[in-house]
Amino acid sequence: MANNSVMTAALKLSEKLPFVLKRLADLAYNYWWSWSSDRIALFQSIDPQEWERCGHNPVAILESASCERLSQLAEDPLYLKQVSALAREFDRYMQQKDTWVSGVAPQLTKEHPVAYFCAEFGIHESLPVYSGGLGILAGDHLKSSSDLGVPMVGVGLLYRQGYFRQRLNRNGWQEDYYIDNPFLHMPIELIKTQTGEPLTIQLEVRQRTVKVQIWQVQVGRVTLYLLDSDREDNDPIDRWLTGHLYGGNLETRIAQEVVLGIGGVRALEALGIQPAVYHLNEGHAAFCTLEVARLEIERTGKSFYDIEATVRDRCVFTTHTPVPAGHDVFSPDLIDSFFAHYWTQLRLSREQFLALGARRLGDPWEPFGMTVLALRMTRACNGVSELHGQVSRKMWTVLYPRVSEDQVPIGYITNGVHAPTWTAPLLGDLYNQYLGENWHTQAMNPEMWAKVDTIPDEELWWRHRVLKERLIAYTRYKVKKAREQRGESYESIQATDTLLDPDVLTIGFARRFSPYKRGDLILRDAERALKIFGNANHPVQIIFAGKAHPADEEGKRIIQRLMEWCHHGEIRNRVAFIEDYDIYTGQKLVQGVDVWLNNPRRPLEASGTSGQKVCFNGGLNCSVLDGWWCEGYQADSNGKGINGWAIGEDAHTSDQELQDRIDSRSLYQLLEEEIVPLYYDRNPQGVSPRWVQMMKASIKTNCPLFNTDRMIADYVSQVYVPEIATRVEPILAKVLV
Ligand SMILES: *Cc1c(COP(=O)(O)O)cnc(C)c1O
Repeated sequence: MANNSVMTAALKLSEKLPFVLKRLADLAYNYWWSWSSDRIALFQSIDPQEWERCGHNPVAILESASCERLSQLAEDPLYLKQVSALAREFDRYMQQKDTWVSGVAPQLTKEHPVAYFCAEFGIHESLPVYSGGLGILAGDHLKSSSDLGVPMVGVGLLYRQGYFRQRLNRNGWQEDYYIDNPFLHMPIELIKTQTGEPLTIQLEVRQRTVKVQIWQVQVGRVTLYLLDSDREDNDPIDRWLTGHLYGGNLETRIAQEVVLGIGGVRALEALGIQPAVYHLNEGHAAFCTLEVARLEIERTGKSFYDIEATVRDRCVFTTHTPVPAGHDVFSPDLIDSFFAHYWTQLRLSREQFLALGARRLGDPWEPFGMTVLALRMTRACNGVSELHGQVSRKMWTVLYPRVSEDQVPIGYITNGVHAPTWTAPLLGDLYNQYLGENWHTQAMNPEMWAKVDTIPDEELWWRHRVLKERLIAYTRYKVKKAREQRGESYESIQATDTLLDPDVLTIGFARRFSPYKRGDLILRDAERALKIFGNANHPVQIIFAGKAHPADEEGKRIIQRLMEWCHHGEIRNRVAFIEDYDIYTGQKLVQGVDVWLNNPRRPLEASGTSGQKVCFNGGLNCSVLDGWWCEGYQADSNGKGINGWAIGEDAHTSDQELQDRIDSRSLYQLLEEEIVPLYYDRNPQGVSPRWVQMMKASIKTNCPLFNTDRMIADYVSQVYVPEIATRVEPILAKVLV
């Protein structure tokens, strides 16, 4: 077993640091530093330009800092005070005994942690192994588990080039490119054995043995293990198994899922970790249940069907996709080529094995579904919002022929966000003053949030306005850089200096450009949109960001249409697109906008979390009643929104074209009749009191619910602790051949 508690990389880094700054190395190697801005400032202030250049990576900044600069800092009493205060806070955090979990679920112990499996983790922009919502949720899941003291380890893949990066060419067309991650200079560490060799596990992929090494990332008190096949002793093709996130074809996909699921369980075994619970976050990780079964068969000598219940008792599953097409399924052919050697180890026949992933039994062409496998092999399953729970029950009734739809054992736990990560420091500081020091340790306490009423209106208004200015400055910087790279005209580059205006009502829209999310809905009726954006007295502006999947032509066309609007004569100062959406851009956006727009085709947004981030920063949501917003939105007796707005309420049709028309009209009407007038209805101090009232209502009602502390508390009490969790009837998948 490897010694995985001491970060030798941190020790090594500390050697180059002046004596009084050595603790910076420990801090750099634990992403705990990323959940608050004063901690980030400690690294950033070493060299702000280099900080930008290295992608906000604290290890790289310490490595590249000159002796001269470090010794300058070492004699700066203010800096030293900050370092030692932070080191003390860090030590207190890491050693804390009286955590939330120790009070409510002492059954969960460090010896037997929850193992949380996910194909992507979005912890910070300096660790780009995520693509979007699923990864950010996984990152926030680990951070809140750490904060609440839930014993947990994460398991994922370390992608050499992560997810694709986005650049838009002069025609507004998305071009994809990839960047190599410099693992050796990132806040991660390769796990080695006592003899100094990398600790590896082996697995069979495409009839070849692949060696996989394991990296560790500290996320507060939680350790995240990331698997990496990029080793010289592997076949060149297999080195790219962990090359790209969601790249390649179905064969790449199944190969990666074998590494994640089967490799992940083997890695934990090699590390001597014996999880009490395996949590499959989305179907990608479902093969892990098979490896848990294989180990159990090896240990007991029993048959698969004899140990199946034991495996189910230890595995739980969260599903994320509300459309059947979104679930990974593999043809029997593909399963043959990856698992022919494996089902014999489970003592199953081919038919028995295929049945584990089959929606219907008895059809030899029935594909193998990862969600089906996960539903079969876990004791608890949940969707990620109340509506998504409903949709999932309906979608999977076929697996539970003996019960009615509402009895299908799929519950829900609504997603949340990690409050300290997403709240702007300037507002966090306000919450410290008015809600109480350490407000962020009480994110799920509604009484605390009710105290936002004591914040003076002007105070909340101006702080939010500062954040909006920050967002606009950031947007100008990014757009200017993009235009320079594209070789646009001097005028076009100069024009970015006057792009957007902090006095103008600002809408944000950032998400993946998948057609169902309808990124250009607000521009559907060009004439009406022009009137709204270009209004002389009460103008509106909008900032877009987001990638289209490389294979999604329609998504790329939507981006192209938006880029045309960015150059539209009348409103070119009112529309902006920020390229290459990532966590950092996301933070700037959710912290600075007045209104967050979300207009998917219902019910295709399982939860969504970006709108939740907006709430913590005083922004208001204007959204279709889908995902989490169904639970968040509140209206008065006249149907007027109290804490935000609902688009196209109560009008649902299966005719997409008609639905788009209804929803866009509803959106225009909301903007024209409610949102714009309210925003510009100012008192002599320049504040809109009714707007601030809505900001406060949004904070009070949404923040206590849609944070990951509440979400983790739900996972602990409803899912993780088997003694208190609800049990479900197994699905029968037994095929006797
Ligand atoms: C929060 C976030 C997401 C997920 O938000 P949705 O509401 O699901 O679109 C995706 N990408 C980034 C960078 C984020 O910060």
